[in-house]
Amino acid sequence: MESTVAQQTGNKPLPFTEAQMRDIVAKHPTPFHIYDEQAIRENARQLNAAFEWCPGFREYFAVKATPNPHILKILMEEGFGGDCSSRAELMLCQAVGMSGDDIMFTSNNTPADDYAKAVELGALLNLDDITHIDYLARHVGIPKTVCFRYNPGPLREGNVIIGKPEEAKYGFTREQLFEGYAKLKEKGVETFGLHTMVASNELNPDFFVETARMLFELCVALKDDLDISVDFVNLGGGIGIPYHPDQSPVDLTHMSNGIKAAYEELIQPAGLHPLRVLMENGRMVTGPFGYLVTKAIHRKDTYKNYVGVDASMANLMRPGMYGAYHHISVLGKESSPNDQSYDVVGSLCENNDKFAIDRQLPAIANDDLLVIHDTGAHGHAMGFQYNGKLRSSELLLKPDGSVEEIRRAETLGDYFATLDYPGLK
Ligand SMILES: *Cc1c(COP(=O)(O)O)cnc(C)c1O
Repeated sequence: MESTVAQQTGNKPLPFTEAQMRDIVAKHPTPFHIYDEQAIRENARQLNAAFEWCPGFREYFAVKATPNPHILKILMEEGFGGDCSSRAELMLCQAVGMSGDDIMFTSNNTPADDYAKAVELGALLNLDDITHIDYLARHVGIPKTVCFRYNPGPLREGNVIIGKPEEAKYGFTREQLFEGYAKLKEKGVETFGLHTMVASNELNPDFFVETARMLFELCVALKDDLDISVDFVNLGGGIGIPYHPDQSPVDLTHMSNGIKAAYEELIQPAGLHPLRVLMENGRMVTGPFGYLVTKAIHRKDTYKNYVGVDASMANLMRPGMYGAYHHISVLGKESSPNDQSYDVVGSLCENNDKFAIDRQLPAIANDDLLVIHDTGAHGHAMGFQYNGKLRSSELLLKPDGSVEEIRRAETLGDYFATLDYPGLK
């Protein structure tokens, strides 16, 4: 179970052998996502260790990445909170025992009902727009702690997944921030937070240092102009992972040291120390430690050579949606030459239902087990039922090597559950 370090260097070793996986598959039919608990824990500890210098540092796991309470429980045991954007996500956090400032509520276009639930749990509210101050006052009431989401607009460049900040629907403008904090102060708010999220799947550690610097400078300006002391900044999520073997993970120590330098330069002289630094990553927390396991069921040779597997885009949308690369291993053939070129496809009636295009792989036969890497975040979570496809089970590989089913596979009964029609049960 030495997977973390090697995984992080892009070597992509697996935390299970073919023989172990054949045993697992005998009890749990493919396809499924399987998560490596030990690796998730070790990675969580590395993130916390990188920020040891920062009193009150806390990672709030973006629940949307892997909304499974068994995973949230593990992360809570490692000291993480939960970052939610919907009522369902709040309920997941509540179910594992999170409350109060264990929960960050970073929503947008938020229904009153969701705010009510967040306030009931005592969550840290992160407002997406200045009009939400009055909306909140009217529908729920304003808590003593409020955070605002900043959108720097043309001051920052985003990246492919999240787009340009000025095109993004999220957050306050700079002017609105100043107006908003002044208003909160009038309304008796005592504790203030400042948040931004300007990139997703970003592999450059300096990007996060720049984000921290931008927020620290804003904290100083808020102190100077409004005499408001911000209590915490939330740098958002977005730390990327090396999906491709040629990529490297974000150097967390480098990132944290850069943030520390900016903190010492800006926050301490302004008398704003201690300022808590928070993050809300999803992808880097669980992404590299989940695998979609699927079986080859058809080989087809026409204008191209195809391997048809029993998973589809309904189980992992990223390749079809973003053209994202996910590494694939063929179990038991790790040392065979990658001398075949395949499109690895699912069964949806959509031609973008492909896990890989023109991928060099070993010769694949029916019944071979394929492991699609890095599906631990935004994998099962983005699943859907189009074409009558069912969402798969989720399994947890525990530190002692045993396997627990932490979500069962959907059945046709689940699929038809919302239809009241004879013969469909
Ligand atoms: C999606 C999202 C995250 C998590 O993003 P990752 O890329 O998974 O780290 C964090 N915060 C907000 C507001 C988000 O929308």
